[in-house]
Amino acid sequence: MAEQQEFTFQTEIKQLLNILSHSLYQNREIAIRELISNASDSLNKLRHIQLSESQYRDDVPLEIVLEPDKEAKVLVIRDTGLGLTHDELVQNLGTIAHSGSKEFLRNIAATGDGAKPDLSLIGQFGVGFYSAFMLAEKVEVITRSYREEKGWRWESDGTGRFTISAVEGDVPRGAQIRLHLKDDMEEFTEPTRLKFIIRKYSTFVPHPIKLDGETLNEQKPIWVEPKSQVTEEQYNGFYQWLTHHSEEKPLWHLHLSSDSPIQFHSILYCPPSNFELMGFGQIQHGVNLCAKRVLVQDDSQDLLPEYLRFLYGVVDSADLPLNVSRETLQDHKLLPKLKKVLTKKVLDHLSDLSEEQPETFKTFIAQFSSILRTGIATDFENRERIAKLMRFHSTFSATESTLVSGGLDDKAPAPSVSLDEYLKRAPEGQSQIYYLSGPNLDAMQKSPHLEIFRKRNLEVLFLEDPIDEYALIQLRSYNGKEVMSIDGADIKFPESTNPTDEVEAKETPKNFTRVVELFRGALDSKVAEVKESSRLTDSPCCLINPRSHMSGRLQQVLGQSMREFEQTKHVMELNPQSNLITRLCELSNNSDNDEFIRDCGRQLFANAQILDGLIPDVEDTTGRTLRFMEDLARSKSAIVV
Ligand code: ADP
Repeated sequence: MAEQQEFTFQTEIKQLLNILSHSLYQNREIAIRELISNASDSLNKLRHIQLSESQYRDDVPLEIVLEPDKEAKVLVIRDTGLGLTHDELVQNLGTIAHSGSKEFLRNIAATGDGAKPDLSLIGQFGVGFYSAFMLAEKVEVITRSYREEKGWRWESDGTGRFTISAVEGDVPRGAQIRLHLKDDMEEFTEPTRLKFIIRKYSTFVPHPIKLDGETLNEQKPIWVEPKSQVTEEQYNGFYQWLTHHSEEKPLWHLHLSSDSPIQFHSILYCPPSNFELMGFGQIQHGVNLCAKRVLVQDDSQDLLPEYLRFLYGVVDSADLPLNVSRETLQDHKLLPKLKKVLTKKVLDHLSDLSEEQPETFKTFIAQFSSILRTGIATDFENRERIAKLMRFHSTFSATESTLVSGGLDDKAPAPSVSLDEYLKRAPEGQSQIYYLSGPNLDAMQKSPHLEIFRKRNLEVLFLEDPIDEYALIQLRSYNGKEVMSIDGADIKFPESTNPTDEVEAKETPKNFTRVVELFRGALDSKVAEVKESSRLTDSPCCLINPRSHMSGRLQQVLGQSMREFEQTKHVMELNPQSNLITRLCELSNNSDNDEFIRDCGRQLFANAQILDGLIPDVEDTTGRTLRFMEDLARSKSAIVV
């Protein structure tokens, strides 16, 4: 008897095994899918090694074989792939290396005992092997690595420990997973049941899957077929195989073929939802690179930019040498070229989608725009293309749609205004794209900055998320029009919107300069200047930000996260015609009122900050409003007349 070494599983795996072996999860057949997927990965890797390193070539067929034994209640899944060494067994079948898997665990553990967690995603998180314990009370892995003569046996009953021992005698290269099935799992020794499972989940495995000498899968590389020859069902099936997601259909797919300047075939898929929005951490790239149908690199990070990392698929190029090694692949000249073409094709496709299938596009934007927009800051060449796909709320969409006033945010429809549409509506001579940044749509609707734009009937985009503003700032201009925050000093109005019927200019109230002086004194260190406004119609004041290309709000956000970022001081503009300012001008006749007028200046400043989504000095502001209320309360009478 060979010596047996005992190991303990990593804590997270113990938890996972506990969940898997006790779960009442219905869809246990996915375990077969996962084990076949592992076998296929292993065969892919071996094929690649054999192509680049001739000493490992032989004529053992690359295949997966299922061997059910009804009497013994054992199902064997055997492959002629890479196999595992002793250390690889310890590492790969004892610890979790993938970053996403812990999140998967947390997620299924949080579902609680009563509810059935969705285990079908297990393969996406790099822990698919352990699903074997949904079917088996004991799992054996008998394996020999392609680099070794000697074979090993890994064994576990899934309760926390596993053993490894050397196998006497010959072991064929590759791995065989022996599932000692649980009592109620006998169906997995029925050939008809197994055939059904393979056809359902594993048609696209690129190696033959055999049972009783019969090959069960088609292994058809649909991406090299002409589009017209591929059915919707095949597209969906391939997506499901790639994503290990048997129920889901992709939101859209893009099938590309090109002969020059680079030869390639590709199918790219967009999933229907964004994992990142569900709190699963960053999505990893999911596009496989093939050379003449042979997998060279899975989940390649070099084929698409980060901001398209959510796409799945395959890219197959005959221009890539089959024997390119993983190490030299990164430096291969072809990859940046492929990346460039693919990126452009995807962005063009999205643009077409926005016109041809607006509903699908809407879903896409709702799910993925948070990832996509980061491309504006990182991909100089394509930034206008990406900006074209962004959608915003605006003063136009807010009045056009059902949302009139109040409750805007609860039921706000998805942002729908594109920059192109915005510019189409812009009057002649408008040289800037106006936007307002604010904490939410309700607050932005009430912003005093909008008054002049409403008066001149100019559309303003609403940006709730500072990241959207950041993206627009990186863009600087779109179609030659400068992107401009409307709290900025450099706003240019199109001449065509200048008021024609010159309303008789209202006289500035007497003592206005006195009020300005008092405000200046009160806000000395806080504002750059206090002056009369030409923009306001109703509100008493607003804050103008001298650095026009970035709203005061974004400056505050950046100021909080970057020490060295310097915020500019605002200019406070006053509307002398507003009720409050007119009254303060009258009161300023009496110098006893000076302190009250100064306090009004401080409070107006705080109010304007809040409206702009800025945080005023909290202690100062609350203290002062309390004093105002106390004064008012004192002036009221308790006597009922
Ligand atoms: P993943 O396959 O996503 O990495 P798994 O839990 O399914 O996660 O498998 C863990 C690791 O075990 C794999 O990465 C691989 O290194 C190894 N492995 C699993 N099955 C096989 C197999 N049939 N042949 C060789 N190695 C395997």
